[in-house]
Amino acid sequence: MIARSMADRTLAQRLLAGDRRALARAITLVEDNRPEGWELVQEVYPHTGGAAVVGFTGPPGVGKSTLIGALTKARRAQGRSVGVLSVDPSSPFTHGALLGDRIRLAEHFLDQGVFIRSMANRGALGGLSEAALQAALLLDAAGREDVFVETVGVGQAEIDIIDHADTIVLVLMPGSGDSIQALKAGVMEIPDVIVINKADHPLTDTMIREIRGVLSLANLDRTPEQERARWRVPIVRTEAATGRGVDELVQRLAEHREHILAGGELEERRARNLRGEVLAIATARMRRRLEQELSGDPEFQRLLEQVVQRRLDPASAAGELLARQPAGDPAAG
Ligand code: GDP
Repeated sequence: MIARSMADRTLAQRLLAGDRRALARAITLVEDNRPEGWELVQEVYPHTGGAAVVGFTGPPGVGKSTLIGALTKARRAQGRSVGVLSVDPSSPFTHGALLGDRIRLAEHFLDQGVFIRSMANRGALGGLSEAALQAALLLDAAGREDVFVETVGVGQAEIDIIDHADTIVLVLMPGSGDSIQALKAGVMEIPDVIVINKADHPLTDTMIREIRGVLSLANLDRTPEQERARWRVPIVRTEAATGRGVDELVQRLAEHREHILAGGELEERRARNLRGEVLAIATARMRRRLEQELSGDPEFQRLLEQVVQRRLDPASAAGELLARQPAGDPAAG
């Protein structure tokens, strides 16, 4: 016990000193949902908050990894340390699953100033976004100045992860109309920056017009005051493969950071995100606890049977479940 806590302290210290192996080990601990991982985050948490966290989302194949590779290069040239977290909620594979991403970021492998990690879903229900958020905190604690979080797709799980970034970038390419639909339908909130990658494509202008249309609809209900203070979502054209447009993206990201710092929005955003994170973790744990309590509970079985036989509706059954005293609660006796 003592030996373990000493080992953990050493790991935390090494992590805070920026040791890449300690960082890799720490992320594995949170990914595996090990108690040591949570303890480690607890210990280093006061040292977080320094990183500029940028989240990238968008359909597979639009060039997110290539773009992050190009951005990493630009940020390294400015002398900043970079951490990249690549999260794929739809992938059942793990460790090295996102080999493609790794290869596209390969030129950075030997650079001590760059740390790259892929995380995939290993079937732990709801666990990936929790783990990814913890991993982002670990990168932050290890002193990475820029943390780029990449997710695949625009589903709910991806949005949960990306929502916790300070700046959200939606990456599209000409022809990827589904994402515009997602924006229109409000599945996804309006991002801070929109990138149209592969912008040498002839349909680029059409797509930009379409996006502008969606953005102007989203802004209809603003007051003049809100309108003046508002961040205007830039649409940046890039060709990640050649690096064209990447400087402009770097510039727009810096401007967004300035904007949220100047208006106090960064603090507000982070407070809101942290509230969401606390609630998400608490909800996941309560659900697990409830499922444990109810497994093999004969009264719960009887309730379910009544629902199946259409004698009790699901909402009333849930109400009865929540109204009863938890088993083992002294107040119940
Ligand atoms: P991701 O799935 O969104 O991460 O996309 P990738 O970064 O893996 O890129 C998908 C494919 O698009 C790769 O073969 C890239 O080389 C290619 N690609 C990336 N950027 C560009 C670009 O600007 N122009 C063209 N023509 N291809 C690109």
